Amino acid sequence: MSTLESRYQQVLHQIAQSAAQANRNPDEITLVAVTKTWPAELILEAYAAGMRHFGENRAEELEEKRPFIEAHLGPDSGIVWHFIGTLQSRKTNPIADYADVFHALDRLKIANRLASRLVENGRTPTRPLPSFLEINVSGEMSKSGVNCTDWENSATQRDEIRNFGKTVAALPGLTLQGLMTMAPWEADPEFIQTVFKRTRLLAEWLAEELRLERPLSLSMGMTDDYPLAIAEGATHVRVGRALFGERQTH
Ligand SMILES: *Cc1c(COP(=O)(O)O)cnc(C)c1O
Repeated sequence: MSTLESRYQQVLHQIAQSAAQANRNPDEITLVAVTKTWPAELILEAYAAGMRHFGENRAEELEEKRPFIEAHLGPDSGIVWHFIGTLQSRKTNPIADYADVFHALDRLKIANRLASRLVENGRTPTRPLPSFLEINVSGEMSKSGVNCTDWENSATQRDEIRNFGKTVAALPGLTLQGLMTMAPWEADPEFIQTVFKRTRLLAEWLAEELRLERPLSLSMGMTDDYPLAIAEGATHVRVGRALFGERQTH
């Protein structure tokens, strides 16, 4: 077995174990293999090892890698392309064109720009772009994400996220798939678990407020914390280093 294959098996094993501990079905959990900064050839190797969901965080990389991979594997490879990075408004077109799932929707301006491009492309209503609202419950880590640092107590914050969710759910071209969050770096595990738990509770609250037919998905957990995220209900874990090793840049 190659290093890549054995790392992949280890991650799958950890996902299965964490799911079992939480009495969850591991099939509910999508492993998004984060290939940012790595060359497209690595995606071919990862594909051969069995991976099908890939995550990129820069528009330029997605725009370059997807056509390269499709040239090698054809359009029916079964690959699902996830865009996981914060998006600048001038980069919305490549995401509308090349992403299958968007994990970091944090402002209305981005949602509107994506929606109009998706409609223009005729991509909707047959193939809308499932989108996760990126939220920030910890106040640490970064400025990205809708401010939900005190959503349990703040009616203003609840109004903001409710309105944002409602608007996104009603936009043509996009579907509201769930919430995404990032835990702070190097916090203790209990604090990180609290971040994931508060995100899950917010998703449950929001689904009820918006009277959604299906529960909202939860994109949370990276190399250092995905077992904790699975314990708190993650449906999508975004894992890079545990699969591919340390990145050269970023
Ligand atoms: C890089 C990145 C990941 C993966 O991080 P690892 O620590 O390599 O697992 C996950 N999510 C986002 C948004 C990222 O930018």
